[in-house]
Amino acid sequence: MMSHNQGRPGVDFAESDEHRALRAAVAGIAAKFGPRYYAERAAERRPCAELWQALGDAGFIGVNIPEAYGGGGGGLTELALVCEEIAAAGTPLLLLLVSAAISAEMISEFGTGEQRETWLPGLASGAVKVVFAITEPDAGSNTLRISTAAVRDGEDWVLNGTKYYISGVDEAQALLVVARTGQDERGGRLSLFIVPTDAAGLEKHLLPVDLLLPERQFTLHFDGVRVGPGALVGEEDAGFRQVFHGLNPERITGAALGVGIARYALGAAARYATERTVWSEPIGAHQGVSHPLAKAKIETELAALMIRQAAWQHDHGQPAGESANMAKYAAAEAALAAVDAAIQAHGGNGLASEYGLMPYWGLARLLRIAPVNREMILNYVAQHSLGLPRSY
Ligand SMILES: Cc1cc2nc3c(=O)[nH]c(=O)nc-3n(C[C@H](O)[C@H](O)[C@H](O)COP(=O)(O)OP(=O)(O)OC[C@H]3O[C@@H](n4cnc5c(N)ncnc54)[C@H](O)[C@@H]3O)c2cc1C
Repeated sequence: MMSHNQGRPGVDFAESDEHRALRAAVAGIAAKFGPRYYAERAAERRPCAELWQALGDAGFIGVNIPEAYGGGGGGLTELALVCEEIAAAGTPLLLLLVSAAISAEMISEFGTGEQRETWLPGLASGAVKVVFAITEPDAGSNTLRISTAAVRDGEDWVLNGTKYYISGVDEAQALLVVARTGQDERGGRLSLFIVPTDAAGLEKHLLPVDLLLPERQFTLHFDGVRVGPGALVGEEDAGFRQVFHGLNPERITGAALGVGIARYALGAAARYATERTVWSEPIGAHQGVSHPLAKAKIETELAALMIRQAAWQHDHGQPAGESANMAKYAAAEAALAAVDAAIQAHGGNGLASEYGLMPYWGLARLLRIAPVNREMILNYVAQHSLGLPRSY
C-alpha cells in the first residue's frame, strides 16, 4: 500500500513482523507457566527459576545483549516487548529490570573487554544474574548522598557501607554496586563495581516485605569487601553519568512490566465480568464495572505508546530521560488502576487466593515507588519539561 509519507521517514505505528513474532514466542513460553505458577511462587517467596531458564534457553532474556556475546543483538525495544509479554501472561519477572536491563546494558556499554567476556554470555543465556545495588537507608531518592564508599588499597578497591531493598541477591552471582569514590560540590562522585555475591565481608540479610513477590529483597553490609582493579565498571568517578544511562532502561522495562500487568488484569476482569451474573445481566453490563476497566485500558495503551518512544530514543542514542520517566509514571498508574478495577469487578473473589489478583496489585503498587517514585518523576517533568524551579 502507498505510504502517506511518500518515502519520507515518519512515525510508523505498524508493529514489524519480527516484533509480532517475538511477542508470540515469549507469550507462548510464559503461558506454559501461567498465573497459577506465579501465584504459588509469590506465596512461597520462591523465584520463578524455571520460567527464567526457559526464556533464557530460547534467547529472550538476553535479547538486548550483542550477538558477539550470545545475545539477540536487539535493543531496549525488544527487551521491553519481552518484559511486557511475560507480565501479560500473568508471570511478571522483576529481575529483568535489574539484571537484563540495568546490568546487561551497563556492562555492554561501559564494561571492559574482560568484563563483557566474563558476564555477558551468562546474562544472555539466563544462567547468570547480576542484580543492582544503589538504594541506601540514609540516601534513598537522593543518590548523591550515598555513603557506601570504595577506597583504593594498592591495586584493589575496598568497599564499606550498607545497601537495602536489593532484589534477588539470593539468585544472583554478582551485584552491580554504586559506590562513592570521591566528593565534589554536588555531592558524592560515584563509581560502579561488580562484586560477587559470595565476596568475603559481604553480609546479606533478608528484608521481609508484605508484597506477594517471588523475588526476595535484602539488606547488604559491605564490611571491608575487597575487589580487584577489574571490578570497576567504566570510569572512576563517572558513575553518575553511567548510572543515569542504566536507569532509563530500568524505567522503560519497569513501564513495560506495568503495561503487561495491566493487560493481564484487564483480560481477567473482562472475562469474569462477562461471565458473572448476579442480576439479570452479566456484571460487566453495568457501567460502574465497565467504565473503570475501559479507563484503565485507555491509560494502558497510552503508556504503551510512550514506552515505544522511550525505547526507540534509547536505542537510537537520543536523550530518553523525559520519555522514560513519563512512560514509567503512566504505566505504574495504569497498572494500579487496572488491577484495582479488576479486583473490584471480582468482588470478594478479587481478594481470594484462587483468583490470584493480589500479587499483581502488590507489584503494581511497588511500581509507583520503585525503580523511581512517582514524586521524583513529577519533579523531573516539572523541572526539565516545564522549566519550573527545582523544588528540592
Ligand atoms: C520491593 C522493592 C524492591 C526494590 N529493589 C531494589 C533493587 O533491586 N535495587 C535498589 O538499589 N533499590 C531497590 N529498591 C529501592 C527503591 O528503588 C527505593 O525504595 C525507591 O527508589 C525510593 O527510595 P526510598 O525508599 O529511600 O524513599 P525516600 O527517598 O525515603 O522517599 C520516600 C517518599 O518521599 C517522597 N519523596 C522523596 N523525595 C522527594 C522529593 N524531592 N520531592 C517530593 N517527594 C519526595 C516520595 O513519595 C517517596 O516515595 C526496592 C524497593 C522495594 C520496595
